[in-house]
Amino acid sequence: MQIYINGTFYPKEEAKVSVFDHGYLYGDGIYETLRAYDGYVFHLEEHIERLEHSAKLMEITLPLEENGIMKAISDTLAGNGLKDAYIRVSVSRGTGEIGLDPELCPVPTFVIIAKQFVDYPTELYEKGVKIAVVETRRNHPETLNPAIKSTNFLNNIFAKMEAKKAGAFEGIMLNHANFVAEGTISNVFMVKNGELLTPPLIAGILEGVTRGLVIELAEKLEIKVYEEMFSEAALKDADEVFITNTTMEIMPVREVDDKTIGAPGRVTKMLAEAYRQEVLRALKMGIRAD
Ligand code: PLP
Repeated sequence: MQIYINGTFYPKEEAKVSVFDHGYLYGDGIYETLRAYDGYVFHLEEHIERLEHSAKLMEITLPLEENGIMKAISDTLAGNGLKDAYIRVSVSRGTGEIGLDPELCPVPTFVIIAKQFVDYPTELYEKGVKIAVVETRRNHPETLNPAIKSTNFLNNIFAKMEAKKAGAFEGIMLNHANFVAEGTISNVFMVKNGELLTPPLIAGILEGVTRGLVIELAEKLEIKVYEEMFSEAALKDADEVFITNTTMEIMPVREVDDKTIGAPGRVTKMLAEAYRQEVLRALKMGIRAD
């Protein structure tokens, strides 16, 4: 396995970042997770745009422009002989003296890890997963804005720990105002009376690339979509629930805490199929690893 660090490839065992890296010391960094299908990186531009957006909100100057990032990702896939891949791009503030001042770190640390994509078990898509609404609240947007895809992940890790204890696949966090926000690594959708609802960005969530595509696909399928706040009670009273992210796409939910939602419903299935078709259509516009 070859890891990209600031323009150079290192074998996994030698791919190391300094203990003075502010990503390590303070969680001062950002990242993206991408997925390649058969050598094509899906929604590559959207992910790079979001990386740039996160960098802007963090006042990090990325060492590469869009084309440079695309090439680095492509080289990493090619160098590792990967076609179906999980790709993680991390950018930390960089290495510097101990202290919070970002100016201590003149050069960001830019890392790309790519590995063979391992599919989630088919059974999960067929039967749905259990999710738990956890006690941990999503960061208030005026503390650490969830719109930044930051490597400062304790908020989500606390939620994940709770979800694990509850035997759930994913933990759903409420926001500061008691409305449903998002999962630890996913956005959440519910279906009620044939209509689709998902929390709005002002709920304090990450603007998921998959979330955006699902909204687009629903509109094409003439399913009414509402980006509006809803409560934990409404989520439990939904006809269908699913969660989304880049790696798992659309994952049906069969249980929210002890409330059974049931097998994947009609709308979830329609959207999952539309998503598959979109992957087949759009991946041809991505970049090839070879
Ligand atoms: N919300 C959070 C907190 C996430 O970490 C993620 C992805 O990892 C998502 C939502 C889904 O984002 P995307 O669809 O862009 O993968």
